[in-house]
Amino acid sequence: MRSLDALRTRLIEVDDLNNAANLLRWDQTTYMPPGGAAARGRQLATLSRVAHELFTHAETGRLLDAAAKETASLPFESDDASLVRVARRAWEQSVRIPGDLVSELQVHTSESYQAWTVAKPKNDFETMRPMLQRTLDLSRRMADCFPGYAHIADPLIDFSDYGMKAAEVKTLFGQLRARLVPIVRAITARPLADDSCVRQQAPEAQQLAFGLEVIKRFGFDFERGRQDKTHHPFMTKFSLGDVRITTRVREDEITDALFSTLHECGHALYELGIDRSYEGTPLANGTSSGVHESQSRTWENIVGRSRGFWEHFYPLLQKHFPKALAQVSLDTFYRAVNRVERSLIRTDSDEVTYNLHVMLRFDLELDLLEGRVAVKDLARVWRERFEADFGIPVPDDTRGVLQDVHWYAGPIGGAFQGYTIGNILSAQFYASALKANPGIPADIQRGEFGVLHGWLRENIYRPGSKFTASELIPRVTGSALSIEPYLDYLWGKYQPLYALREEERTAGVS
Ligand code: ZN
Repeated sequence: MRSLDALRTRLIEVDDLNNAANLLRWDQTTYMPPGGAAARGRQLATLSRVAHELFTHAETGRLLDAAAKETASLPFESDDASLVRVARRAWEQSVRIPGDLVSELQVHTSESYQAWTVAKPKNDFETMRPMLQRTLDLSRRMADCFPGYAHIADPLIDFSDYGMKAAEVKTLFGQLRARLVPIVRAITARPLADDSCVRQQAPEAQQLAFGLEVIKRFGFDFERGRQDKTHHPFMTKFSLGDVRITTRVREDEITDALFSTLHECGHALYELGIDRSYEGTPLANGTSSGVHESQSRTWENIVGRSRGFWEHFYPLLQKHFPKALAQVSLDTFYRAVNRVERSLIRTDSDEVTYNLHVMLRFDLELDLLEGRVAVKDLARVWRERFEADFGIPVPDDTRGVLQDVHWYAGPIGGAFQGYTIGNILSAQFYASALKANPGIPADIQRGEFGVLHGWLRENIYRPGSKFTASELIPRVTGSALSIEPYLDYLWGKYQPLYALREEERTAGVS
């Protein structure tokens, strides 16, 4: 297996360069002083270019061909055959993109990100407009490296959710929207849950301590990970032995940092659970943004916002915040952390309305790429569509088109669909976990997560990228991606919370 070994060595070198870049990015958003910004953008561009050159070099292609011959007789699922298959797919994507375009996009999006951090709080879309136009032009150029696509977004979606087509996502989202809207309408016709108990002063140190205590119980390994503070929480990985999460703390809200910690912990548990023998290879990554997001949402929402979870952890939270919570009942608190309302900000929105925020952005991405919406009209179109979907006016661009970092820090296209696919999948995977282990809800009530974590690790985390999402989902759940478990989950949770009537579930659905 000489070519396979040489291929693996080369892939690990590429991974080393990419992880050096990841470390620079992590530093940029946690500890770097502002003066480092310009040089950091250049350093990242250099590393991206060198990694891209090494990976797309003709020698990599030769090794891939030779290793494919060496592994031809191995079963599809074998580690070696999978490594060659997954590496080839990534290689075929990368060789089509000229190195210049890679570094151009890197330099531009670094600048655009810095400008956005200033423009967003100032409600200044005008400054971002020409930058966004250039991002759109570069995104189109990226897509055009893959001629023959059915939709211009398809190649861009392939980078995050390989194999999903814009047309499929559109159909899936259309079906989900039709079923979500009656539930949103029914809930929002009820009195709004009072969430004043979580909107109380809470010292940063206690918030962080409580969050760390919970993720330790989830199984986050502090020998192979850590948490730091940032503005926009994220998870990153430098190796399977070093997976980092970040959070932000608002001292006027008890649970804000907590839920972001649980979310990023879910991403981290996925990466930490990958087979250690895949270290440094393309197999040692989560398989798609949708599957990744399914894990953050499992730990944040299905577990972390469940009644059983809080039956166990609420007394502990009360101990951390005795002044604020001693007089607040578990019921009141549980309702507060599951309050549903039509609101302006995606990342603050509840489980029920969240996907409508994602659909708005996904549709706009397609419209921008197709040229149906011009960048100069984007802020206005955002406001119009948001008001049509949510029934509330958008007061400014800070809380409108400028709110999410994605279009200002990376290509337009493929950035948002993974969130909703993740929500859908979280419930589908969890339903399978429950079928195999009906005792999981009782475990959660006792603050025990070993069985759930173990099931997710064996079925979803351990294979890393060995299977694409569309290969993995039927293996794990016995069926293709389906919205039904997710709708059942939402109804099962919110029907009793808001005393919804059965006929409201499908009112107006044909
Ligand atoms: Zn996430």
